[in-house]
Amino acid sequence: MDCQRCKSTLKEGETYDIHGKVLCEDCYMYETNPPKACDPMAVSSALSVRKQLGQSGSSGLSELQQKIYRIIEEHGKITKEELLKILNIKPEQLEQEFAFFRHCELIRAFREDGKVYFTKW
Ligand SMILES: [Zn+2]
Repeated sequence: MDCQRCKSTLKEGETYDIHGKVLCEDCYMYETNPPKACDPMAVSSALSVRKQLGQSGSSGLSELQQKIYRIIEEHGKITKEELLKILNIKPEQLEQEFAFFRHCELIRAFREDGKVYFTKW
């Protein structure tokens, strides 16, 4: 099977479905964090969020964002499935929030033993 965006060969268990497309991890990240988020305004507000985080914990984030950030901070690393279970939200919702965190370089995803984990940047 090939990634429908970059055409790279996908191994079984390393495919991501989004909007009916089958993608590799990189393209999935690209699709869930579209480049429109990278305008100068977004970058400056992202920087101010980071500054706020450094100064006073996770203030300046929405309630859900604070929750996500705290859970990841407490766990060190956590799988997407576990995080969804704790938060009791839809995967699409988490994807949306994750795009924000990734953009602000607060939280990143990595793969270990075939699972996707979230951890602090
Ligand atoms: Zn791809």
